[in-house]
Amino acid sequence: MTNPNAVVSDTQSAITMAINVAVNNSAIFSPPVPSHYNITLFPRTKFPKSIETAACAGSGSTVAHGGAGKNIAWVDVMRASSPTRSMSENSEEKKTWIMKHPSALRVFEEIMSAAKMKKVVIFLDYDGTLSPIVENPDQAYMAPEMRIAVKNVAKYFPTAIVSGRCRAKVYNFVRLSELYYAGSHGMDIKGPSSRKHQKGNQNVLCQPAKEFLPMMNEVYELLLEKTKGIIGANVENNKFCLSVHFRCVAEEGWSNLADRVKSVLKDYPKLRMTQGRKVLEIRPTIKWDKGKAIEFLLESLGFANSKDVLPIYIGDDRTDEDAFKVLRERGQGFGILVSKTPKETDAIYSLQEPLEASYVLSATISYMETIDSSYAIAN
Ligand SMILES: [Mg+2]
Repeated sequence: MTNPNAVVSDTQSAITMAINVAVNNSAIFSPPVPSHYNITLFPRTKFPKSIETAACAGSGSTVAHGGAGKNIAWVDVMRASSPTRSMSENSEEKKTWIMKHPSALRVFEEIMSAAKMKKVVIFLDYDGTLSPIVENPDQAYMAPEMRIAVKNVAKYFPTAIVSGRCRAKVYNFVRLSELYYAGSHGMDIKGPSSRKHQKGNQNVLCQPAKEFLPMMNEVYELLLEKTKGIIGANVENNKFCLSVHFRCVAEEGWSNLADRVKSVLKDYPKLRMTQGRKVLEIRPTIKWDKGKAIEFLLESLGFANSKDVLPIYIGDDRTDEDAFKVLRERGQGFGILVSKTPKETDAIYSLQEPLEASYVLSATISYMETIDSSYAIAN
């Protein structure tokens, strides 16, 4: 039998080098890691250039400034939740924020150390976390290499995608039947469809807002009609959540857009509007969000009152804060916010972009592949 101490020791040095590879490719860290560390620790497919390329292609578009509208409060909120540029790496605000929310790459060994003998569960947002934010939300594809990383991490841990998108749409992007999917901000949850991954109550199904479906379809049609005169506005039907994307709307049009959406909602008091990254979202007023969704999934997995579970949630958006908050309140696991811009967050750690999320997943896989198999199967 392998000496577990020797394996762990080897793994720790492997992790250090793995993180150096990631660091070497990241703009946030300086000075750069010496090039001789850029060894083939992981298969090349796990640290692809194509992810970086895709992430760069999807970085935020620039919109014009100015245009004070009457709907000032909503425009301010839309602006605050939709940063259009990243902050200088050297700004004091960013340095302070990074100290408060260290990079998950920097503390990767700490995360793995906390995971020892715990049952790890991975939760992943989709847009802006696994895929870049792109102008056309229908083209927010994840890189093949990211899919491989998610597929491999799911071999070791229960893994769920928790997205504002409708479940069918996010499944079409990810196309991994072994995962849990919580679409419409957790209002549409389904367990793995792959039979070999169904154990016990893993074949879960939860739709707490099912009775709202006819109303959501009705409001979707109204929103299409009301917003069609606003150039760049895009209404997406995510089943239990309607998303009005404004990432392609000039900033002077945001106020008008918010007014029109609100004019539709005044007749639907059972619906509420929230905002995400360049998107207004209309949801049922039921007390259900991504935080409730991860609580439901942890309970379904048998971890409702477990002290041995370590949930890790990676997300980039305001709606992910509900999940970060649940983890903080449970005192379990880690929230990791993907953001180039300092934000108020309940996440403990941070990452800059989806590329770095792929590094974390790949480093986790490498770690699991090199340690004692009994550790892996504790999960
Ligand atoms: Mg997101």
